[in-house]
Amino acid sequence: MKITVAGTGYVGLVTGVCLAEIGHNVTCVDVDENKINLMKSGKSPIYEAGLEELMLKNKDRLTYTTDYKSAYKDADVIFIGVGTPEKKDGSANLKYVYEVVKQIAETVEKDSLVVIKSTVPIGTNDKIERFLKENLKNDVDVEVASNPEFLAQGTAVKDTLQASRIVLGVKSKRAEKILRKVYDGFNQPYVVTDRRSAEMIKYASNDFLALKISYINEIANLCEIVGANVEDIAKGMGYDPRIGNKFLRAGIGYGGSCFPKDTKALHWLANFHDYELKTVKAAIEVNENQKIKLIKKARRYYESFNGLNVAILGLTFKPGTDDLREAPSLANIPILLEDGANIKAWDPVGVENYKKIYPNEITYCDSIEEAIKDADICLIFTEWPEIVNFDISKFEKLMKKPIVLDGRNCYDLKEVKDAGIIYESIGRRTIN
Ligand code: NAD
Repeated sequence: MKITVAGTGYVGLVTGVCLAEIGHNVTCVDVDENKINLMKSGKSPIYEAGLEELMLKNKDRLTYTTDYKSAYKDADVIFIGVGTPEKKDGSANLKYVYEVVKQIAETVEKDSLVVIKSTVPIGTNDKIERFLKENLKNDVDVEVASNPEFLAQGTAVKDTLQASRIVLGVKSKRAEKILRKVYDGFNQPYVVTDRRSAEMIKYASNDFLALKISYINEIANLCEIVGANVEDIAKGMGYDPRIGNKFLRAGIGYGGSCFPKDTKALHWLANFHDYELKTVKAAIEVNENQKIKLIKKARRYYESFNGLNVAILGLTFKPGTDDLREAPSLANIPILLEDGANIKAWDPVGVENYKKIYPNEITYCDSIEEAIKDADICLIFTEWPEIVNFDISKFEKLMKKPIVLDGRNCYDLKEVKDAGIIYESIGRRTIN
């Protein structure tokens, strides 16, 4: 089988490389020539644990190209894994998906299966198939199938090779058979359904996870008011198998390229059909407030940040990724800069991407020690292991005023108590 994957981002590249790992020959197409050149030289354009190693191991089965014509014309299966970002009104922007679909319509020369991996609104697969049927240049049969992706950045390779499930939204037995053959080397449960239900499974899953995070964050906010400890609450809840212990970590809210846009897109879609998704709306609203919670806490210590040294630990939206999309740090840093703060930041992999947004406004540090030295306050946005395992006594030794506001509950309150610092986290009591 000749497999082509359109888009070499977190989803497309990981999918392509993992399919090569189970023995397929895969052509990865992208419009970004820099990315393609980087991959041709054996380098991954994104930071994902284990990805570069697998690219190297399977290099004879992987082709990287910008030449979509040669990639699509004789492919048996074409996966589309390009971005579906948020439009201003919250709906999903399908322009990249349709760009690929148009390119397929122009170039495909044999019967093939087009598989939509990108997260797309319910009904998109049907529309794409209609579009293809009306616009195919050659007399070939092209069917569309939905195969949403559930990997999480930071663990994308592992999540793909050991996925919790493979969802196949198909219109025919033929499409199901082809996709089962593609995934033959994996050993995961299949959920086979129609295309609209497959599209909905993806949104319903992501929005449920976002809701779970916003729920525990609201409970955390109430814990702060009534004097309870959200970590213990989450532990006590998590033992109940009906609740589960995952996604109950209180913090400064979710970010990334999926939860924010997928909650808004489903909410928009529901509105479009005159239905109000009240729970999802609440998840979105709670998250918006949660993102700037540390700034609100910081204002209790300083009315203005003008001229203050502010240490920022963690820039990415979560550990294990270099992705900054919707990272809470991006909601806070502009406020601090506007207020006149001198920001010194540390992050193990996010700095290069941050420099594209703030080349000169922030001092990027090589170590946590350097970032916190002489700081008037320290804000923690990402729970990188280096931050979690940091010797907390150094905050008191190195900072001008040892005020640490932790948006990810990195430290044990008992240990913090002996460290001589003022410490506020999320949903737990203040230590001072
Ligand atoms: P991304 O932005 O990392 O990558 C998209 C890639 O597509 C880019 O490299 C871009 O250059 C390329 N591209 C754009 N137009 C193209 C074209 N015409 N031909 C070929 N390539 C083209 O995106 P991502 O994070 O991998 O997300 C892709 C899709 O998967 C989205 O719909 C997203 O919602 C969904 N998804 C993402 C994740 C995740 O964790 N990132 C998880 C599950 C699902």
